[in-house]
Amino acid sequence: MRVFDPHIHMTSRTTDDYARMAAAGVRAVVEPAFWLGQPRTNPGSFTDYFDSLIGWEPYRAAQFGVVHHATIALNPKEANDPRCRPVLDLLPRYLDKDRVVAVGEIGYDSMTPEEDDAFERQLALAVEHDLPALVHTPHRDKARGTRRTLEVVAGSGIAPERVAVDHLNEVTVGMVHDSGCWMGFSIYPETKMSPPRMVEILRQYGLDRMLVNSAADWGVSDPLLTLETGKAMLAAGFTDDDVDRVLWRNPVEFYGQSGRLDLTGAGAGAGEPAFAGSSIKRGGD
Ligand SMILES: [Zn+2]
Repeated sequence: MRVFDPHIHMTSRTTDDYARMAAAGVRAVVEPAFWLGQPRTNPGSFTDYFDSLIGWEPYRAAQFGVVHHATIALNPKEANDPRCRPVLDLLPRYLDKDRVVAVGEIGYDSMTPEEDDAFERQLALAVEHDLPALVHTPHRDKARGTRRTLEVVAGSGIAPERVAVDHLNEVTVGMVHDSGCWMGFSIYPETKMSPPRMVEILRQYGLDRMLVNSAADWGVSDPLLTLETGKAMLAAGFTDDDVDRVLWRNPVEFYGQSGRLDLTGAGAGAGEPAFAGSSIKRGGD
């Protein structure tokens, strides 16, 4: 089974995770820029983070035969902080970089007027830079947030097939399916969405425009839940080709719209991580 995790925050994971992922068949990842837990207080904190997402992290991933791309944006939560909003003016130079395959994560957290403004401006940037957009849906009041998200997307002029609406569940999948946007699902150990529930959704809505991710970060999460979903699909009667479509070809098709997806080296270290101790610099020294 080859796996492309279209949404995972490797910055908050260890090399043990990269080794386990490579051994299990995860050959490519996309890491969206997001909130880091600790509030940032100035735009410089963002540029250092963005530089790490397109510099250090792809280098670290490559040691394990995992190809790494990023999406860049001002996340919805920090869009509310006036100290962070100047980041919007810094985005264009990052959106021109080779390894940036979408604008994201954008969308809503608390659905404030500030979030409205940042969301609309960043969808416009996606159109201007000819990039897809990765849209986060709020954890609270998800149905209303998703409905509002789709209205803003429709009004922005971006083509729906260039938008992935993420963190969906049984309540929100139908409206995104009807919109023509891609449907993203974050599989978590305890909350949100589980492999068996995901299999039911695939049965009901089909495999078109479906993206399955682990969204693993610094919270309780598991980078191998994409793989578990593939196993659950096989156990439920889906074919190897169906699994390959959902876990590999769909994310390739979605992010391939950027024209920048380069999968050279994907799987080069699968099974036996290329990590050779001396070939990667230790973080602390
Ligand atoms: Zn995320």
